[in-house]
This record gives sequence, structure tokens and C-alpha cells, in this order.
Amino acid sequence: EKLGVALVGLGRYATGQLAPALQETKLCKLSGIVTGTPRKEKEWARKYDLPESNIYNYETYDQVADNDDIDIIYVVLPNSMHAEYSIRAAEAGKHVICEKPMATSVRDCQQMIDACQKAGRKLSIGYRLHFEPYNKEMMRLGRQEVLGAAEQMSGAHSFPLNDPDAWRLDKEMAGGGPLMDVGIYVIQAGLYTIGQLPVSVMAWDETQNPDNFPEVEGTIRWDLNFPNNVVLHGESSYEDRGNNFRLEASDGWAELSPAYSYSGIRGDTSEGPMDFPQVNQQALQMDDFARCILEDDQTIVLGEMGKRDMIIMEAIYESADTGQEVPLNFDKEEGYIRPLAG
Ligand code: NAD
Repeated sequence: EKLGVALVGLGRYATGQLAPALQETKLCKLSGIVTGTPRKEKEWARKYDLPESNIYNYETYDQVADNDDIDIIYVVLPNSMHAEYSIRAAEAGKHVICEKPMATSVRDCQQMIDACQKAGRKLSIGYRLHFEPYNKEMMRLGRQEVLGAAEQMSGAHSFPLNDPDAWRLDKEMAGGGPLMDVGIYVIQAGLYTIGQLPVSVMAWDETQNPDNFPEVEGTIRWDLNFPNNVVLHGESSYEDRGNNFRLEASDGWAELSPAYSYSGIRGDTSEGPMDFPQVNQQALQMDDFARCILEDDQTIVLGEMGKRDMIIMEAIYESADTGQEVPLNFDKEEGYIRPLAG
């Protein structure tokens, strides 16, 4: 019997990626939805054969507690709503997957972790690239020093956002700009490639057209400093296009371009091109979380990882604001790094 997943927030990602992926998962399936739009209730019920009893809106959400068809709540709402809906899911006795960025403050991340711990439920973040073969190869090359010791890394993740009404441009809803939305992938890649925590960061707001971005940054650049003088040069923008990651090591290099897409990721190294199968990242991600629930194992994309990244992003914003380098001092729990295996 597959575990039941309910998607909360039926926007672009839930509709275009997660629901289709849930048709391919082996250990879990789409069993419910939470939506504020009555039209979507009918469309989704028909398309995915969902009983009316598994369809909720934002008023009836907490009643999911009484529904045994739903084991996992997957929060796919605008960033500022992640904390509240994840915490209410845990209080309803459900395991939680929350989309990235985990929340809009470190404090909210901690409250989500605490709520899931208190309820005895598992929490994971929708970091799909941990299940993607080319990105996993970067982890192996970097951590096992296959191309020698890491010297520096660079990456960009950017796309033009031209809709002035988008919640992504609303500081309150989004928490920040492209850094929080897509730059987070570059930070993730840096940490999982070398398997180390940064020690400080310097960042620069390089917004080209400030009139278009009254609340959040349009373009941001940062240098994330790791031990042994390794630096990740990162960039993220809503004014440009970019999707790549590169590792320079003492004996060679490796690069992904595109690095963060749902499909079509490609990789090259100084030793020759990478060649791995294309996978459904979201299906693998959700199946692994279901497996962790069934086997009482720890997910590799823990809430602690989402909080760690929020700490780094807050430091990036602080540095861009103050023009000063900001130190990062992770303690053991806050410094969660996923293991190489898995
Ligand atoms: P979207 O705008 O397409 O969808 C958001 C959904 O939330 C909509 O259905 C909207 O109706 C609903 N909603 C409920 N209350 C709302 C409110 N008060 N204001 C605005 N919308 C409200 O956004 P999306 O691109 O699907 O992103 C949703 C989340 O998923 C974000 O946190 C985003 O970062 C994340 N995401 C992750 C990936 C990934 O690859 N892991 C990709 C895309 C988006």
C-alpha cells in the first residue's frame, strides 16, 4: 500500500511537476489536494480520480488530521506561507515535505523543525537535485577529490522575471529575490559538491534596473568562503539567464550546464563528458521520503538543511546591505551536510 501525499497549493510547480511525478512514484501516490480555487477542485478530482473526501480548502485544511488516506503533506505555497502550513500539517499528525526555500527566516525554519519533532513526524525539503545523477556525480568528484583538491567553484542560476505582479517580487511573500528562489541551488551545489560548510560570505547587490525591483534584489553576486581558501563565486538574477555550476580542482575541472533543470542536465569534465540517465527527480525525491517513513530512516534533505541554507542566505543579504564580510559559525546541528551515499 502506497503512502498518500496531499499537495497544498496547486500552482505551477505542483501542477506541472509534482502531480505528474506522483503518477510515477512507487512508494507514494497523490491522494489529496488543498486549494483555494473551486475550479481546481473539480479539475483535479476528475484528472486524478480523487474522492471528494480528500479535497480540502484553506478553511478545512486542519481536518486533514482525520484522514487516513493522507500520510504526507507537501507544501507548495509561496515562501512566506511555508512555515504556517508545515507546522499545521505536523500538528495534524502528518509527515511534511516543504518546498525550497524552507521559509523566509531562520526563526521560522526552527519553528518548523520543532513542530515536526514535537509531533514525531518527519520533515524534508524539496531539494530534488540530491536525487539527480549528474549532481550526484559532482558530489562524488568533489568529495572524493577525484580531480584533486577543490580550489574554487562558480555557479549562476538566473531567469528574467518580467511580471510586476508576481509574488516572487513581493518581499513579504517571497522573503527575498532570486537568491531565495533560484540562487539557493548554487549555494546547495557548492556545499554538496565539496561536502563542507562555509566560514564567511561577501555579497554585492548588482541590480541593473532598480525601478523594476522596488522590494527585492534584481541581481545579486556573492563569494562564499570555505576552509582552505576555497571560494564559491555565485550569482543569481531576475534580469538575466544562467544555469551552471563549475568545480576547479588541482588536477582538473567538472562542470554542469544546465545544472539545475528538471531534465536535460549535462556534465563535462577535464577527463571527458559525463553520461548518466535522465531521471524524474521529483519522483525519486518523494519516493525516498516515503521510504524513510516506511523504514524509519533519516531523509538526506532534512529540515536542518533548509535552515542551514536560510542562515547562509540571511548572511548574504546582510553582507550586501552592509558591505562587510559576514562570518558563518555553524554548530554541529546547524551544520548538517548530507552524506555522500544515498
Ligand atoms: P505559483 O505561484 O505557481 O503557485 C503558488 C500557489 O499558491 C498558487 O496555486 C496560488 O493560488 C497558491 N496560493 C495560496 N495562497 C496564496 C496567496 N496568498 N498568494 C499567492 N498565491 C497563493 O508558484 P510555484 O512556482 O508553484 O512555487 C510554489 C513554491 O514551490 C515556492 O516556494 C517555490 O520556491 C517552490 N518551487 C520549487 C521548485 C523546485 O524545483 N523545487 C520549482 C518551482 C517552485
